[in-house]
Amino acid sequence: MMEAMRRTKIVATLGPASHDRVAALVDAGVSMVRVNCSHLTTDEVSATVRSARAQSSTVGILVDVQGPKLRLIDGLDARGTEVVLWERGYTDDGPMVGFDPQAVGVEAGERILVNDGRIVLRAVEVLPHMVRAEVLVPGVAEGKRGVNLPDTNVNMRMFSDKDQADIAAAVDSGADWIALSFVQRAEDVLEARRMVPDDVRILAKIERPQALRVLGEICGVADGVMAARGDLGVEIPFARLPVAQRAIADASLRSGAMSICATEMLESMISATRPTRAEVSDVANAVRDGFDCVMLSAETAIGHDPIGTVRAMAQILEEADSLDGFVSPFADHNPNAAAVAASAATLAGRLKARAILAITYTGHNAELLSACRPNVPIIAATEDERVVTRLMSRFGVKPVLAERPDSTDESISYAIDAAVAAGHLNRGDLIIVAMSRISPRSDTDTIFVHRV
Ligand code: PGA
Ligand code: MN
Repeated sequence: MMEAMRRTKIVATLGPASHDRVAALVDAGVSMVRVNCSHLTTDEVSATVRSARAQSSTVGILVDVQGPKLRLIDGLDARGTEVVLWERGYTDDGPMVGFDPQAVGVEAGERILVNDGRIVLRAVEVLPHMVRAEVLVPGVAEGKRGVNLPDTNVNMRMFSDKDQADIAAAVDSGADWIALSFVQRAEDVLEARRMVPDDVRILAKIERPQALRVLGEICGVADGVMAARGDLGVEIPFARLPVAQRAIADASLRSGAMSICATEMLESMISATRPTRAEVSDVANAVRDGFDCVMLSAETAIGHDPIGTVRAMAQILEEADSLDGFVSPFADHNPNAAAVAASAATLAGRLKARAILAITYTGHNAELLSACRPNVPIIAATEDERVVTRLMSRFGVKPVLAERPDSTDESISYAIDAAVAAGHLNRGDLIIVAMSRISPRSDTDTIFVHRV
């Protein structure tokens, strides 16, 4: 039996409702799990990654580092016309924030948004350890609510001591991807790159207007990007979000970076048994934009039915994926790197092949093919378990483990056996085999037309 055709991948955020149900999430359609460091100690980050790996040997694991997230210390009453916000420790009775407004670069005239933009302030006077602000949209916020500075080039360490410890713990415990929050420039990605081994993939969360302005540069150095619509939808006018989301998908496709569309995708299913019509359309629209993955956040972390929500998402993706004819700009923008992979993709379409079988050492060959967005699945055969988990989040890629002897014919036959055993191919199928034989980085350099 041939499995249903679904090429867009699902990322599920782990939390109390799901951290011990990884195998069931994978069965329901999840390719990668997200471990959100904001709610965990460093020891809990390690434990969660190790536990996810113990529950599934193939699932991709993404560890999402908190980064320079700004917060209130203990609420804010902004019902008057003016408030003074103090850095923690510099007042006895005023509202406090977890940063020094002057040191992070707040200037008079810039907006300060509190609690997902529900309260809007404008800085009037910035002095050491405090800012006096006029209240544009009043309100009351409780606890450690988030603060966003959409107009400010935030000047803050990209990684706190805890972030650095979380990254080291993630790498040690075997995470495939590290996600960076509140990236503002390509250098933020390079800084993280210097902290991890070469085979760990880095994803930049696009959630600040400053990052949107240099998307091309960020996609040039990151292995993946996320349309992090939660914070992005606060920092830019909400009406502009769909255009920004599309720009993020386009930039990632041009560079070949993996991409995730995130936040509130099936939000109502945190407590409901069916998605709203608007949510169904939102998921289908992310497919049309060309994302590799769609992500579930609170739906799977704390929702009442994480497995049912994943199933609903998988159903929507199956329908939306049948809208074929997606044209990727990758090959046009990378004519040399993509030449052979793009030819394999075209050939698969012309011959109506069942699949492209990518035989790969490092996974790069399959990443190139995925970026070309062929209309058939890409079965990636590799000897390396780490390459399997790393490729899980790539659009259209079905990774399988297979021996890779020196002989090309034997490699193809082992790869086919593994693909048939996994249910991805049937005997008699016409396939395109794409391999790397001479390229050290495992660029696609050889194509065969083959009958299984
Ligand atoms: P978060 O990131 O859930 O870590 O805030 C995603 C987003 O902002 O959309
Ligand atoms: Mn965010």
